Amino acid sequence: MSPSVTGTVYIVGAGPGDPGLITVKGLECLQRCPAVAYDRLVSSQILDLIPPDTERRFVGKAAQRHKVSQDEINQMLVNLAREGKDVCRLKGGDPFVFGRGGEEAEALAAAHVPFVIVPGVTSATAVPAYAGIPLTHRRHASSVTILTGHEDPDKDYPALHWDRIATSADTIVCLMTVGHLRNVAERLVRHGRLPQTPAAVIHWGTTPDQQTITGELSTISALVQDAEMDPPALLVAGDVVRLRDTLRWFDKSPLFGKRVVVTRARQQAADFVAKLESLGAEIIEFPVIKIADLESYEMVDTALSYLREYHWIIFTSANGVDAFFRRLYQHGAASASPLEKLKVCAIGPATARQCAAYGLRVDLVPEKFIAESVAEALRACGIEGKRVLLPRAQEAREILPQMLEECGAQVDVVPVYRTVLDEARATGMQDRLRNREIDIITFTSSSTVRNFVKLVGEETVREHMQQVCIACIGPITAKTAEEMGMSVDVVAEKFTAEGLIKAVLVHSGNRLAQRHLTG
Ligand code: SAH
Repeated sequence: MSPSVTGTVYIVGAGPGDPGLITVKGLECLQRCPAVAYDRLVSSQILDLIPPDTERRFVGKAAQRHKVSQDEINQMLVNLAREGKDVCRLKGGDPFVFGRGGEEAEALAAAHVPFVIVPGVTSATAVPAYAGIPLTHRRHASSVTILTGHEDPDKDYPALHWDRIATSADTIVCLMTVGHLRNVAERLVRHGRLPQTPAAVIHWGTTPDQQTITGELSTISALVQDAEMDPPALLVAGDVVRLRDTLRWFDKSPLFGKRVVVTRARQQAADFVAKLESLGAEIIEFPVIKIADLESYEMVDTALSYLREYHWIIFTSANGVDAFFRRLYQHGAASASPLEKLKVCAIGPATARQCAAYGLRVDLVPEKFIAESVAEALRACGIEGKRVLLPRAQEAREILPQMLEECGAQVDVVPVYRTVLDEARATGMQDRLRNREIDIITFTSSSTVRNFVKLVGEETVREHMQQVCIACIGPITAKTAEEMGMSVDVVAEKFTAEGLIKAVLVHSGNRLAQRHLTG
């Protein structure tokens, strides 16, 4: 029996490499569609964003010496859609700029399969941008031509009219350029471009492997050949290339080229991740734990039936807020109104933001997030003799309830979620370590170190982590890491995320950037 509804094929641009450059709509497709077919140029960071149960089809490279042909790709997309699946067809850059997205869309149209084009950030503009080269500029260039260097021998595209192209625009961007560079540069010059025209060739732009070679049209090909540069790379020619001298930014940032593992989920470490990224690092998220349902909800259910008996509710994490509200809604509530009469304390701004997302007003966010300060702030609010509900993770530490009880509060600690090891990405991390694709691993607690070792295995730690810089938030975490067989290179002096980043910068010899941080 054939399914009644044909799926839709979303032809999505994944951007040029930096995973932050996929569009919001593209990401939504990637995470929602049950099937994803992707090309060679899609970065592994983007592939990490695909949910584990999604059907993945790699169509980019010779698989068992057999290159998947365009016809086969087209047919596969049609077949998947006819199975009733929505398909995310993920392509590097923008699908309609030398991406053969047009051909795939034609095949879908011919087969009456509905499709949606989700444009992407094309390498033609983003890669020069990451090299500090604007394609237009009020004083230097007011037109751009984008062309392919891969003209022959395959004749993938119609012949280029070099006579018209060479001087048609102030700036020339040439894709698929490695291997054809000499030819391209020569033809541009033969048809009227000055040999002294500034030129840059950029390899793997927007990624930690970005490499830029600059010269002139007359010299660039020899320079690139000497550097033995591989694809993918593109050429930019025109006066705007000179602006790189002043606008170079990405590849001179202090942590450029460094692949840094953050052992927490991006949402849980948003500021940490943003800071590292702004310093040029590529972040590899490796959250060692994930949230899981409880085996029994009895305690929280009881608490929910007696909500009006409590004076205060204290949330210690955004996850706790989510889990609490999920249960509250399952009990039939549609808003935060059952909590109206309670005073609400959120430990930390992220937790407070999550409360606000559920429409819950927060009465207290203690200034410091350690148990003593929280207890102190609550004491000042007159917590003595009051009933307090503390919904949190099953495996949380006992210190906060103890301190509250010392303040004379009557505390009900109620687990609302638990955490378990997140095994899904363990093999990916082992591979990366084996292939030496990791420069720095950051640890922010002893339990994270232990969980990390459980996931990747002691052998991987022993065999493949000696070259990796291990950075720990404080001496206790560092001690655990040493005990687990790692050699710790960086220990933060100040036990905060900022302190950790600073220590990493000092270690990488970048005192200048470190001063910027404190400023
Ligand atoms: N649709 C893609 C282009 C596909 S053609 C887009 O819009 O970007 C493949 C060519 O794109 C490569 O040969 C190279 O010239 C260029 N390219 C893609 N990603 C690149 C990157 N990160 N750095 C440099 N060039 C890149």
